[in-house]
Amino acid sequence: MNSAKILIVEDDQFAADKLQLDLIQAGHRVVAVVDNATDCIDFVQTRDVDVVIVDIVLADEMDGIEAVAELRQFSDVSVVYLTAHESDDFLKRAEATRPVAYLLKPHRSRELDFMIRMSLERKRLERELKREKEEIEADLWYQATFDSLTGLPKRKLLQDRLHQIMSKSNRQSRCFLLMVIGLDNFKRVNESFGPRVGDEILYQVGQRISDVIRLGDTVARLHADVYAVLIELEESAQHTISHIAKKILKAIAQPIDIADCDILLTASCGIAMYPQDGNQVDSLLNNAEAAMFKAKSAEGNNTYRYYSQKMTLIAYDSMRMESELRQALSRFEFELYYQPQIDFLEGRVVGAEALIRWNHPEKGLIPPLQFIQLAEETGLIVPIGAWVIRQACHQLQIWQSQGLAVGRIAVNLSNAQFSDPTLLEKVGRILEDTGCAAEGLEIEITENCIMRSPVDACEKLQILRDMGIGIAVDDFGTGYSSLSYLKKLPLTKLKIDYSFVRDIPGDSNDAAIIRAIIAMSRSLRLDVIAEGVETQEQLDFFREEECYKVQGFYFAKPLPADDFERFVKCRTLRPCS
Ligand code: C2E
Ligand code: CA
Ligand code: CA
Repeated sequence: MNSAKILIVEDDQFAADKLQLDLIQAGHRVVAVVDNATDCIDFVQTRDVDVVIVDIVLADEMDGIEAVAELRQFSDVSVVYLTAHESDDFLKRAEATRPVAYLLKPHRSRELDFMIRMSLERKRLERELKREKEEIEADLWYQATFDSLTGLPKRKLLQDRLHQIMSKSNRQSRCFLLMVIGLDNFKRVNESFGPRVGDEILYQVGQRISDVIRLGDTVARLHADVYAVLIELEESAQHTISHIAKKILKAIAQPIDIADCDILLTASCGIAMYPQDGNQVDSLLNNAEAAMFKAKSAEGNNTYRYYSQKMTLIAYDSMRMESELRQALSRFEFELYYQPQIDFLEGRVVGAEALIRWNHPEKGLIPPLQFIQLAEETGLIVPIGAWVIRQACHQLQIWQSQGLAVGRIAVNLSNAQFSDPTLLEKVGRILEDTGCAAEGLEIEITENCIMRSPVDACEKLQILRDMGIGIAVDDFGTGYSSLSYLKKLPLTKLKIDYSFVRDIPGDSNDAAIIRAIIAMSRSLRLDVIAEGVETQEQLDFFREEECYKVQGFYFAKPLPADDFERFVKCRTLRPCS
């Protein structure tokens, strides 16, 4: 049974009591009885009411009709007038406030109950209609914005996203690129295999593109056999664009298995960058499309083109860099620098981090941040990383044989290197070839690298550890590993990341994180070292926290091997500290 929440507005106490009793007996809930217009308005404004039963003549400045007229400004609650008066003026004014009934006193219980139930039913129907309408609208919106064949956004939604991103990227140092990807010769395939197969291909191509790009990026189907991809990037990652394009084209070019045949298709891709290739949605889209046609008309499909000269140059540059990077190893252009790690309580060098530099024949010394990422994407990091380990071990063996107390030498291991199935074998061989004692070697690995496949990582690290190699977690605190997991890993050291050290002692959040890391290292019985210590204040902070091992410009920059050697000798003999 439907029961209504009812507010009674009646200044005659006796009439109010009688009315309340009747309503309760009919199964309704009287949520309040008030005797004036102001309270009535307040109540409806703040509480949940289905029906208001109002007397017209109230002992108040406002009468019942005026009160309801006020209510209508913000509420469509059902109103029943219950009055002893039936003047034309009242009726006319009451009608304008859209009541469900105008009843004369004394009321008849069954009639009143009937009116209340009718009004509830009407409200319910209204709500249902509204919901149906909303559902239809949502459906229409979906059909207008998403492509039913591939489930991908249509051009309209892509344009909305572009608008959104454009207003955002004005504020940040991020840029984005728009790729338009058109299938080559799709028409021919469609004609020879029929539209059913054609549809299936279009669906699968959409899937493949989606699989290649990152979660937050957008893939849309612009029309027929043309797709678009919207990708946000750090400005410093511009040189990865051609890799993304290649990855997409490669994914599309894999055989598509439909109706027992392998269908081979390729695509052409046009690339435009925001803002340089168009700072309006339409111009950017047009230019990316124009670049796609440029790619299509290039001899042999399956290729990509940039809209602008400048991007072509950047891409060309990164291609050239890639080929130069490939040759750098055989041309002996890499060099290892060693940054001392100091125990400032004891005043001695306890080790060094080996950091790679590229001596480019024209560009001079290139820091690793400018080529490590490219090396990772191209897989070149594996041989380059192996060279780093070999070089560090070779150098270490020389120092060990001279009896120079250099401590442990740490090398950075990248993700690709760590997942290389031959890593352990390589390390073993290098130790053997160079004759360096494994106890002098340490690897630095990031939390995220470990967490990618924790079980595997644990096994691998254990084997390295068993060889005698130290294991430091690099950039500690920037990843997501759980304490319980860390406990199970055979680690020897945590490195507090530079990003936390930079703003201490001023930044209290960073200070708290550092304290937590130091406490964690103690409870896990791990060594701890702070990197990027540049100032006296930072050093004092670590003294205060009893973390005495640091690495940073305060003591020394990364140094060529012979400078590092001199540094160690000075520090140990102490005349030139
Ligand atoms: P990382 O492992 O975090 O290395 C520490 C970086 O901080 C080094 O930069 C070092 O020169 C810098 N640094 C040290 N002390 C200070 C300081 O007091 N202030 C400031 N502002 N910076 C300081 P670098 O040599 O440019 O290396 C950058 C990154 O490149 C390294 O970060 C590491 O991730 C990577 N990298 C370097 N060498 C290798 C390598 O041989 N293999 C691999 N896979 N990665 C390497
Ligand atoms: Ca490192
Ligand atoms: Ca670091």
